Amino acid sequence: MTNSAFSGNATHSSLATRLATSGSVNPETFHFTLPADQRPDFVPLKEELHPAFGWLTKNRARSRGRDVFESIDTIVIHATAGYATKHAVDTWKERKASAHWIIPDENEAEHGHFIWAMVAESKAAYHVGNVDYASILGEGLNVNDRSLGVELVNTQNVQYFRDPYSQWQIDMLARIVLYAWAKYPNLKHVISHAKLDPARRSDPGENFPWEAFKHKVLSQSVLNERHPLVFETSASSVTSDTDSLNLAVTTRAGHCCEP
Ligand SMILES: [Zn+2]
Repeated sequence: MTNSAFSGNATHSSLATRLATSGSVNPETFHFTLPADQRPDFVPLKEELHPAFGWLTKNRARSRGRDVFESIDTIVIHATAGYATKHAVDTWKERKASAHWIIPDENEAEHGHFIWAMVAESKAAYHVGNVDYASILGEGLNVNDRSLGVELVNTQNVQYFRDPYSQWQIDMLARIVLYAWAKYPNLKHVISHAKLDPARRSDPGENFPWEAFKHKVLSQSVLNERHPLVFETSASSVTSDTDSLNLAVTTRAGHCCEP
Protein backbone atom coordinates (compact mmCIF):
# COMPACT_ATOMS: atom_id res chain seq x y z
CA MET A 1 0.00 0.00 0.00
CA THR A 2 1.05 3.58 -0.38
CA ASN A 3 0.00 6.85 1.15
CA SER A 4 -0.67 8.38 -2.24
CA ALA A 5 -4.40 8.04 -1.97
CA PHE A 6 -4.97 9.92 1.27
CA SER A 7 -7.89 12.38 1.07
CA GLY A 8 -8.28 15.29 -1.29
CA ASN A 9 -10.93 15.60 -3.96
CA ALA A 10 -8.43 15.62 -6.78
CA THR A 11 -7.09 12.26 -5.65
CA HIS A 12 -10.55 10.84 -5.39
CA SER A 13 -11.61 11.98 -8.83
CA SER A 14 -8.48 10.51 -10.41
CA LEU A 15 -9.20 7.29 -8.55
CA ALA A 16 -12.72 7.29 -9.93
CA THR A 17 -11.30 7.74 -13.41
CA ARG A 18 -8.86 4.92 -12.88
CA LEU A 19 -11.56 2.59 -11.55
CA ALA A 20 -13.86 3.51 -14.42
CA THR A 21 -11.20 2.65 -16.99
CA SER A 22 -10.09 -0.54 -15.32
CA GLY A 23 -13.30 -2.44 -15.95
CA SER A 24 -15.72 -3.96 -13.50
CA VAL A 25 -15.36 -2.77 -9.95
CA ASN A 26 -17.93 -4.89 -8.17
CA PRO A 27 -15.98 -7.75 -6.60
CA GLU A 28 -19.16 -9.84 -6.41
CA THR A 29 -18.94 -10.21 -10.20
CA PHE A 30 -15.33 -11.40 -10.28
CA HIS A 31 -15.39 -14.82 -11.95
CA PHE A 32 -14.09 -16.31 -15.19
CA THR A 33 -13.36 -19.78 -16.46
CA LEU A 34 -10.22 -21.20 -18.04
CA PRO A 35 -10.60 -22.74 -21.54
CA ALA A 36 -9.30 -26.31 -21.31
CA ASP A 37 -7.78 -26.26 -24.81
CA GLN A 38 -5.46 -23.38 -23.93
CA ARG A 39 -3.91 -24.88 -20.84
CA PRO A 40 -0.18 -24.01 -20.60
CA ASP A 41 2.40 -26.80 -20.43
CA PHE A 42 4.47 -25.76 -17.46
CA VAL A 43 4.80 -22.51 -15.55
CA PRO A 44 7.53 -22.14 -12.92
CA LEU A 45 6.73 -20.37 -9.70
CA LYS A 46 9.37 -18.78 -7.50
CA GLU A 47 7.97 -19.22 -4.04
CA GLU A 48 9.56 -19.41 -0.63
CA LEU A 49 8.20 -21.48 2.20
CA HIS A 50 7.01 -19.14 4.91
CA PRO A 51 8.43 -19.94 8.37
CA ALA A 52 4.89 -20.90 9.43
CA PHE A 53 4.37 -23.22 6.43
CA GLY A 54 4.83 -26.44 8.39
CA TRP A 55 2.68 -25.37 11.32
CA LEU A 56 -0.10 -24.06 9.11
CA THR A 57 -0.11 -27.17 6.90
CA LYS A 58 -0.38 -29.33 10.01
CA ASN A 59 -2.82 -27.23 12.03
CA ARG A 60 -4.75 -25.07 9.56
CA ALA A 61 -5.45 -27.49 6.70
CA ARG A 62 -7.04 -30.88 6.16
CA SER A 63 -6.96 -33.76 3.71
CA ARG A 64 -8.84 -33.05 0.49
CA GLY A 65 -10.30 -36.53 0.67
CA ARG A 66 -9.30 -37.14 -2.92
CA ASP A 67 -6.26 -36.95 -5.14
CA VAL A 68 -5.15 -33.33 -5.37
CA PHE A 69 -4.77 -33.45 -9.15
CA GLU A 70 -8.33 -34.69 -9.54
CA SER A 71 -9.98 -32.49 -6.97
CA ILE A 72 -8.78 -28.96 -7.74
CA ASP A 73 -11.12 -27.10 -10.09
CA THR A 74 -11.19 -23.64 -8.47
CA ILE A 75 -8.79 -20.90 -7.39
CA VAL A 76 -10.12 -18.23 -5.04
CA ILE A 77 -8.74 -14.67 -4.91
CA HIS A 78 -8.63 -12.99 -1.51
CA ALA A 79 -7.21 -9.85 0.08
CA THR A 80 -6.03 -9.71 3.66
CA ALA A 81 -7.49 -6.33 4.73
CA GLY A 82 -4.15 -5.59 6.40
CA TYR A 83 -0.85 -4.13 5.29
CA ALA A 84 1.59 -6.91 6.17
CA THR A 85 1.89 -10.66 5.71
CA LYS A 86 2.47 -10.96 9.45
CA HIS A 87 -1.03 -9.70 10.24
CA ALA A 88 -2.58 -12.48 8.18
CA VAL A 89 -0.35 -15.14 9.74
CA ASP A 90 -1.11 -13.91 13.26
CA THR A 91 -4.84 -14.06 12.50
CA TRP A 92 -4.53 -17.56 11.08
CA LYS A 93 -2.75 -18.75 14.21
CA GLU A 94 -5.60 -17.41 16.34
CA ARG A 95 -8.46 -18.61 14.16
CA LYS A 96 -9.17 -21.57 11.94
CA ALA A 97 -8.18 -19.82 8.73
CA SER A 98 -5.45 -20.15 6.10
CA ALA A 99 -4.64 -19.99 2.38
CA HIS A 100 -2.03 -21.54 0.09
CA TRP A 101 -0.12 -18.41 -0.91
CA ILE A 102 0.38 -14.83 0.22
CA ILE A 103 1.48 -12.13 -2.22
CA PRO A 104 3.34 -9.44 -0.21
CA ASP A 105 2.44 -5.76 -0.33
CA GLU A 106 4.83 -3.13 -1.67
CA ASN A 107 5.91 -2.11 1.81
CA GLU A 108 7.34 -5.57 2.48
CA ALA A 109 10.89 -6.69 1.69
CA GLU A 110 9.70 -9.68 -0.35
CA HIS A 111 7.70 -7.54 -2.76
CA GLY A 112 9.23 -7.72 -6.22
CA HIS A 113 11.17 -10.88 -5.31
CA PHE A 114 9.03 -13.84 -4.31
CA ILE A 115 5.69 -14.96 -2.95
CA TRP A 116 5.09 -16.96 0.21
CA ALA A 117 3.87 -20.55 0.16
CA MET A 118 1.78 -20.92 3.32
CA VAL A 119 0.02 -24.30 3.10
CA ALA A 120 0.84 -27.39 1.02
CA GLU A 121 -1.24 -27.53 -2.15
CA SER A 122 -2.10 -31.16 -1.46
CA LYS A 123 -4.12 -30.04 1.57
CA ALA A 124 -7.37 -28.10 1.74
CA ALA A 125 -6.78 -24.70 3.35
CA TYR A 126 -9.52 -22.91 5.31
CA HIS A 127 -10.10 -19.87 3.15
CA VAL A 128 -13.83 -19.98 2.33
CA GLY A 129 -16.62 -20.47 4.85
CA ASN A 130 -19.66 -22.67 4.59
CA VAL A 131 -21.29 -21.19 1.50
CA ASP A 132 -23.74 -22.32 -1.16
CA TYR A 133 -21.22 -22.84 -3.92
CA ALA A 134 -22.86 -25.50 -6.10
CA SER A 135 -24.88 -22.95 -8.12
CA ILE A 136 -21.64 -21.17 -9.01
CA LEU A 137 -19.05 -23.94 -9.21
CA GLY A 138 -21.29 -26.90 -9.92
CA GLU A 139 -21.84 -29.95 -7.79
CA GLY A 140 -18.76 -31.45 -6.21
CA LEU A 141 -16.55 -31.27 -3.20
CA ASN A 142 -16.77 -28.56 -0.57
CA VAL A 143 -15.18 -25.42 -1.95
CA ASN A 144 -12.10 -25.65 0.29
CA ASP A 145 -11.55 -29.29 -0.68
CA ARG A 146 -11.65 -28.45 -4.39
CA SER A 147 -9.78 -25.14 -4.41
CA LEU A 148 -6.55 -23.23 -3.95
CA GLY A 149 -6.62 -19.93 -2.05
CA VAL A 150 -4.45 -16.89 -2.74
CA GLU A 151 -4.21 -13.88 -0.44
CA LEU A 152 -3.03 -10.48 -1.65
CA VAL A 153 -1.75 -8.26 1.14
CA ASN A 154 -3.90 -5.16 0.73
CA THR A 155 -5.92 -3.00 3.11
CA GLN A 156 -8.66 -2.44 0.50
CA ASN A 157 -10.61 0.59 1.70
CA VAL A 158 -10.18 2.05 5.16
CA GLN A 159 -12.25 5.22 5.58
CA TYR A 160 -10.72 7.69 3.07
CA PHE A 161 -7.72 5.53 2.34
CA ARG A 162 -7.74 3.32 -0.72
CA ASP A 163 -4.89 0.91 -1.23
CA PRO A 164 -4.00 0.32 -4.89
CA TYR A 165 -2.68 -3.09 -5.88
CA SER A 166 0.83 -3.02 -7.29
CA GLN A 167 1.60 -4.17 -10.81
CA TRP A 168 3.88 -6.85 -9.36
CA GLN A 169 1.07 -8.21 -7.18
CA ILE A 170 -1.22 -8.52 -10.20
CA ASP A 171 1.54 -10.14 -12.25
CA MET A 172 2.30 -12.64 -9.50
CA LEU A 173 -1.36 -13.48 -9.07
CA ALA A 174 -1.69 -14.11 -12.81
CA ARG A 175 1.42 -16.26 -12.69
CA ILE A 176 0.06 -18.33 -9.78
CA VAL A 177 -3.14 -19.00 -11.74
CA LEU A 178 -1.16 -20.07 -14.81
CA TYR A 179 1.14 -22.24 -12.68
CA ALA A 180 -1.88 -23.94 -11.11
CA TRP A 181 -3.69 -24.27 -14.44
CA ALA A 182 -0.68 -26.05 -15.94
CA LYS A 183 -0.37 -28.32 -12.91
CA TYR A 184 -4.01 -29.22 -12.18
CA PRO A 185 -5.85 -30.52 -15.26
CA ASN A 186 -9.35 -29.83 -13.91
CA LEU A 187 -8.74 -26.24 -12.83
CA LYS A 188 -11.49 -24.13 -14.37
CA HIS A 189 -12.87 -21.42 -12.06
CA VAL A 190 -11.01 -18.23 -11.15
CA ILE A 191 -13.22 -16.45 -8.66
CA SER A 192 -13.27 -13.84 -5.91
CA HIS A 193 -14.13 -14.56 -2.31
CA ALA A 194 -16.79 -11.83 -2.68
CA LYS A 195 -18.55 -13.79 -5.43
CA LEU A 196 -18.58 -16.97 -3.36
CA ASP A 197 -19.68 -15.33 -0.11
CA PRO A 198 -21.22 -11.91 -0.86
CA ALA A 199 -23.13 -11.79 2.40
CA ARG A 200 -19.96 -11.78 4.46
CA ARG A 201 -16.99 -10.89 2.23
CA SER A 202 -16.05 -8.24 -0.32
CA ASP A 203 -12.42 -9.19 -1.03
CA PRO A 204 -10.37 -8.54 -3.09
CA GLY A 205 -12.41 -5.33 -3.12
CA GLU A 206 -13.35 -2.69 -5.64
CA ASN A 207 -9.75 -1.52 -6.10
CA PHE A 208 -8.77 -4.83 -7.64
CA PRO A 209 -8.28 -4.53 -11.44
CA TRP A 210 -10.12 -7.73 -12.33
CA GLU A 211 -10.36 -7.12 -16.08
CA ALA A 212 -6.64 -6.41 -16.42
CA PHE A 213 -5.85 -9.47 -14.30
CA LYS A 214 -8.21 -11.64 -16.35
CA HIS A 215 -6.54 -10.47 -19.57
CA LYS A 216 -3.09 -11.32 -18.22
CA VAL A 217 -4.24 -14.83 -17.39
CA LEU A 218 -6.24 -15.65 -20.51
CA SER A 219 -3.72 -14.10 -22.92
CA GLN A 220 -0.90 -15.65 -20.84
CA SER A 221 0.93 -12.41 -21.59
CA VAL A 222 2.47 -12.32 -18.15
CA LEU A 223 4.62 -15.30 -19.15
CA ASN A 224 6.30 -13.26 -21.87
CA GLU A 225 7.17 -10.38 -19.60
CA ARG A 226 10.51 -9.94 -17.95
CA HIS A 227 10.51 -12.35 -15.06
CA PRO A 228 10.25 -10.19 -11.97
CA LEU A 229 11.25 -13.04 -9.71
CA VAL A 230 14.58 -13.60 -11.41
CA PHE A 231 15.51 -10.03 -12.26
CA GLU A 232 15.34 -7.74 -9.30
CA THR A 233 12.53 -5.26 -9.53
CA SER A 234 13.33 -1.67 -8.69
CA ALA A 235 10.77 0.82 -7.47
CA SER A 236 10.88 2.56 -10.83
CA SER A 237 10.06 -0.58 -12.77
CA VAL A 238 7.03 -1.14 -10.59
CA THR A 239 5.66 2.19 -11.75
CA SER A 240 6.89 2.03 -15.32
CA ASP A 241 3.97 0.02 -16.60
CA THR A 242 1.51 2.59 -17.85
CA ASP A 243 -1.23 0.23 -18.88
CA SER A 244 -4.82 0.55 -17.84
CA LEU A 245 -4.04 0.01 -14.20
CA ASN A 246 -2.15 3.28 -14.01
CA LEU A 247 -1.29 2.49 -10.45
CA ALA A 248 -0.56 5.40 -8.21
CA VAL A 249 2.50 3.88 -6.63
CA THR A 250 4.42 7.02 -5.88
CA THR A 251 6.09 6.60 -2.54
CA ARG A 252 8.68 4.28 -1.19
CA ALA A 253 6.87 1.70 0.82
CA GLY A 254 7.28 1.44 4.53
CA HIS A 255 6.16 4.89 5.51
CA CYS A 256 2.50 4.54 4.91
CA CYS A 257 1.27 2.69 7.91
CA GLU A 258 3.43 3.47 10.84
CA PRO A 259 1.45 4.78 13.79
ZN1 LIG B 1 -11.19 -13.79 1.57
